[in-house]
Amino acid sequence: MMIQLNETHDPALRSWVASAQEPATDFPIQNLPLAVFRRRGSQEPWRGGVAIGDQIVDLAALHRAHPFDGLAAEALAAAAQPTLNALMAQGPAHWSALRLALSRALRVGSSLQPVLAACLVPQDAAEYGLPARIGDYTDFYTSIHHATNIGRLFRPDNPLLPNYKWVPIGYHGRSSSVGVSPQAFHRPWGQIKAAQDAAPVLAPSRRLDIELELGWFVGPGNALGEPIPLTQAEAHLFGVVLLNDWSARDIQAWEYQPLGPFLAKNFATTISPWVVTWEALAPYRAPHERPAEDPAPLPYLDSEANRRAGALDIHLSIALRSARMAAEGLPAHPVAQTNYRYAYWTAVQLVAHHTVGGCNLQPGDLLGTGTLSGPAPQQAAALIELTQGGRQPLMLPSGEARTFLEDGDEVILRGWCEAAGAARLGWGVCAGTVLPARPLAI
Ligand code: CA
Repeated sequence: MMIQLNETHDPALRSWVASAQEPATDFPIQNLPLAVFRRRGSQEPWRGGVAIGDQIVDLAALHRAHPFDGLAAEALAAAAQPTLNALMAQGPAHWSALRLALSRALRVGSSLQPVLAACLVPQDAAEYGLPARIGDYTDFYTSIHHATNIGRLFRPDNPLLPNYKWVPIGYHGRSSSVGVSPQAFHRPWGQIKAAQDAAPVLAPSRRLDIELELGWFVGPGNALGEPIPLTQAEAHLFGVVLLNDWSARDIQAWEYQPLGPFLAKNFATTISPWVVTWEALAPYRAPHERPAEDPAPLPYLDSEANRRAGALDIHLSIALRSARMAAEGLPAHPVAQTNYRYAYWTAVQLVAHHTVGGCNLQPGDLLGTGTLSGPAPQQAAALIELTQGGRQPLMLPSGEARTFLEDGDEVILRGWCEAAGAARLGWGVCAGTVLPARPLAI
């Protein structure tokens, strides 16, 4: 199956929420992403919400008004809960019914306008929770450009390992430290080996980095032992968030062999509050092409539909603002811009590979794409690539230089889609700030 364009994607749709028509908004009526929220500073229950312009439709309040019936009503009841796991578990028929009902109710002329207008909360007044209780977080490595760039830094003679073009490389990450934007976290401590002939020391990381990724939320799971075929994988993908996989490169360099990163990446991962659904992304699908000289994927990772439209044209950017820039009122400085369509492995290939050995995915699991670097140097999605391993500092408008992150630095990720004949939509921001390392009694 493949989601087709339908009336909810029509770029001519207009909402009675005026801010949804602002040209710069990430949240036109064609987007309708979901988050978990409450009024900031309140003790209200967390519940699902849908973004429209600069507002949120409170889905718990809307559920109490019972405006929908059938699958849309069932999906709305699930979306009113403190996490979206139950909605994710329901599957595409429910998600699509809710999207259609909300799209119609938010259009100019809808008879439900008074009902929904009573359920609006300004985004300015909201705080966000994690969209789901994340049972497991898996992080992949789908950018061949990132794999080659970072491989060259860690292994100059052998940058791209021979399995890369055959296996969607991934590892099991840590879900307990996934937080929602805006997240502040302390610089991590770990074992660092400063020189070849020196003993390692326990110290705060001095090479703290970012990784611009996307994170897929899993919808319905699969039973243990029953793989999800590539051709059915789309029905198991609920939607996608921006994801910053903060990484301590000095800790990583010492610990990563033979089992991969551990403390270098388990201290914090930040995601955007808004989950843009798989269905909303239908207008931005793109062919997934491999260089002709590369091996064809094994049959369980290959399909005609995946070759024709398995990629997604999602623009992504990184901006950085130091504490001094914030104090001087300077805006965040753009440091890189890339696109998801450069990924070597598509989302459905990740699902098919993850489960082919029998592993069971569960609703609310999170699948990171890996750092989404593009082919050009300015499309690198981590500081270690942008600064050539720390050898070429970036200059900030404040006159400061950066190789890796300093205390007080704020990193802002953005994502957006635009295509001929479709609305422009986006994710809002995924922001995180580095706090000083905690004093450690040792
Ligand atoms: Ca990563």
